[in-house]
Amino acid sequence: MIAASPSSRGRRFDLRAGALGVVLLFGALVGHAAADNSCRTENFAQWLRGVRSEAAAQGMSAATLGALDAVQQDPKVLRQDRTQPSLSQSFVEFAGRLISADRLNRGKALLGKHADTIRRMEREYGVPGPVVAAFWGLETDFGKTLGNYSVPSSLATLACDSRRSGFFRDEFINALKIIDRGDVALSMMSGSWAGAMGNMQFMPSAWLRSATDGDGDGKRDLWNSTTDALVSAGHFLAALGWRTGMRWGREILLPEGFDYLLLDQTRPLADWSTLGVRDSAGRPLAVSDTPARLIAPSGREGPAFIAYPNFDVIMQWNRSEYYAISVGRLADRIAGGGKLVRPIPEEPRRLPLQTILNVQQNLAARGFDVGPIDGLIGPSTRRALAAFQRSQGWIPDGFTSTETLQILGLAPPAAAAPAASVP
Ligand code: CA
Repeated sequence: MIAASPSSRGRRFDLRAGALGVVLLFGALVGHAAADNSCRTENFAQWLRGVRSEAAAQGMSAATLGALDAVQQDPKVLRQDRTQPSLSQSFVEFAGRLISADRLNRGKALLGKHADTIRRMEREYGVPGPVVAAFWGLETDFGKTLGNYSVPSSLATLACDSRRSGFFRDEFINALKIIDRGDVALSMMSGSWAGAMGNMQFMPSAWLRSATDGDGDGKRDLWNSTTDALVSAGHFLAALGWRTGMRWGREILLPEGFDYLLLDQTRPLADWSTLGVRDSAGRPLAVSDTPARLIAPSGREGPAFIAYPNFDVIMQWNRSEYYAISVGRLADRIAGGGKLVRPIPEEPRRLPLQTILNVQQNLAARGFDVGPIDGLIGPSTRRALAAFQRSQGWIPDGFTSTETLQILGLAPPAAAAPAASVP
């Protein structure tokens, strides 16, 4: 699911709350733990009147305005929104859950079944079919879990609520525009509790930008038309800047004695080659000036990846690195690629949001620059962790290992993660 929205870092992020329910807006949740049920029924009616006036002023049809009568507050949506899941799943959990053998096999089969559409999408938008198939698999399990919330009611409920109201109000207006254009009736607009719709879990804004009538029936139907959905995903990735002919990234091998403080840096690929980084078969990397970033989401015990510009395109779809690597890896496996050379270790286990906040606060109190204390383990937190590890005389891989958590005085996470054999 895709959305453009302001964040504390001023960059695009999404609100992942679709069928997978995997990653939410970490930062947005921080500091909002207490339920604030500010949108009472009378407020909702008033809110809806305001939206109706705005829609009328924008020239929307009487039919569209009339359909607004069906929009209701949905307490289930607020409950979902108030629930703080364990936000930061470990990479092993994430990848193991998203890339199952079954999903891999179905992805391959569906790529064959829709070969004509895929070829057309590839010609038109320059995005590889396996990449689009991977998004499809991760978003909705290839159309099996589209979500059965009323998207307009969900968006209205969240917009009337006090948090992120502007974002959801904009998306509600966008949803009305889709209805007004005749692509879908309001009553048929179903999706996730946070407003993501169809096979690719597009937010209404993404829909307006990129939904495409692939099968030529005159409607953009991302629920029932696989052709529309696949073509629209290619369209969206192309619009985000997908670079045709380039990979998303790949597994790489780090040399003995590698300086882990170089992780998360972007350098020309040739530099990494000079530093001894090799591809997963042990061969030198291409001598090129392609910007490339090194990532080791499981620390020194796990696989390392090199991320090219298309990795950042995937992260505009979903801001989680785990998600982006999972998309890339599922795409590679669907395309016939092999398993990771270095399997994902079972550590780390799930880190609760509060543990990550504690890690960030603890490091900041020790004088390490973690960036915003937002419950997200990103490059700035990893750099701070690495600097802390080095101060302790350890290998600075920037990873929240149990050992690191203990030295920081934080209890290690409890539950063991399932093994992930497929990625
Ligand atoms: Ca169509």
